[in-house]
Amino acid sequence: MHHVAIVGSGPAGYYTAEALLRLWGEDVAIDIIDRLPVPFGLIRSGVAPDHQSIKAVTRRYEGVALNNNVQFAGNILIGKDISVDELMALYDAVVLATGAPHDRKLDIPGEDLPGVMGSAEFVGWYNGHPDHADLAPPLDTSHVAIIGNGNVALDVARILAKTPEEFHGSDIVAHALESLSGSRIRTINLIGRRGPHQIAMTPKELGELAHLERAAPRVDPTDFPDAGDDAMLEPGIRKSVSHLRAFAANPVAKPITIEFDFFARPVAIEGEGRAERVVLERTALDAELRSVGTGEHYSVPAGMVIACIGYQTPPIAGVPYEHGRGRFANTDGLILPGLYCVGWARRGPSGTIGTNKPDGAIIAERIVAETPTSPSRKRGRTGLHDLVRARKLDLVSFDDWQRIDAAEIAAARHGAPREKFVSVDEMLVTKSQ
Ligand code: NAP
Repeated sequence: MHHVAIVGSGPAGYYTAEALLRLWGEDVAIDIIDRLPVPFGLIRSGVAPDHQSIKAVTRRYEGVALNNNVQFAGNILIGKDISVDELMALYDAVVLATGAPHDRKLDIPGEDLPGVMGSAEFVGWYNGHPDHADLAPPLDTSHVAIIGNGNVALDVARILAKTPEEFHGSDIVAHALESLSGSRIRTINLIGRRGPHQIAMTPKELGELAHLERAAPRVDPTDFPDAGDDAMLEPGIRKSVSHLRAFAANPVAKPITIEFDFFARPVAIEGEGRAERVVLERTALDAELRSVGTGEHYSVPAGMVIACIGYQTPPIAGVPYEHGRGRFANTDGLILPGLYCVGWARRGPSGTIGTNKPDGAIIAERIVAETPTSPSRKRGRTGLHDLVRARKLDLVSFDDWQRIDAAEIAAARHGAPREKFVSVDEMLVTKSQ
């Protein structure tokens, strides 16, 4: 029997476990450890609540979780409750699949003003992540600035723009639905430091902006290069750009405007005691398509500023870390002998949920190739449970999660798949009932 600990129960963790089971069959015992009492990481806390079809992938992860050789150990924080060194002493391989749940900083003056937040906080708030349930975003403002031109910026703009009725069938948490129902937002500025050809938005997600009940996108036609230049684009981006061109050609008036502000980089956020405006510098592209400031400045009003500029992996004491890129220092997933990383913790926050499948398979193959074939002398799960008992940790099993899951489903408002618990205490009380 080989013993493997996977830290993190999001897509990268489950795809790695699935691949290990495929390669080692009955010869592996896998413990999937998560700091939250609930599994599935980004699927639960990151994927937009109105994109339920993407969340259906959790059924596949459940199949892995219910394998006899797999255990879920929730509510254990590696690096605090149990160290990575202790795990490495217990398991033949330890895989860090901890994702990238922390915001990258804008590093501009005014970033700490009330009303300024990162997408991890804001997305975590509307998705009921216990770390961000108390965020209280200032939705009493008429103007919001969203920094970044990726899919997260699109998710955030769409969630801010939707009517309460448009959340029917979603699992947006009650506190967010209630706050958004009273929102006074009228203008959402989507600020991109480069141009329409450089967006990181996928066509399906961008196309959704054309179908919102009370909001419509607005794009300045003069921001585009010649239409003929679109032919040079990779097909996905070309389709996205065709959506942008359609938005520019057919402006629609609705109560909320989603304004694409291209070629603008934020240089400061200003306001008396809270965010009131973002100061932007006009940019142009250099020969390498990087944005460079032109020296021309202007401001847009913004009582709330949400930076959707990418994420980073939280460091763990004793694990080599690449600060510039916000991920563990690794060579093709290997951090140290016996210690691996996978998914966003390995490559940074890029790609879709599905990108983690080949990623998990590569790490699993590597682990199988690099683990001695002789019988393991590691204690694995038995050792983990000894530590849990000695430290009086409140480990949450997959059975416990299924009780929490059933209670969330039972509490769902009409048409919603579930009403999530948004505090760890509520989750722990529920699993014990
Ligand atoms: P992203 O795709 O990397 O986009 C980040 C955006 O922020 C880029 O437009 C980038 O501009 C901009 N940016 C970075 N630093 C900046 C700065 N200092 N000032 C101004 N702008 C800055 O990241 P993301 O949107 O967070 O998405 C993360 C991953 O999750 C992506 O792979 C995304 O596709 C995926 N995702 C997918 C879905 C979906 O499939 N439905 C939904 C959400 C997220 P530059 O290009 O100039 O660097």
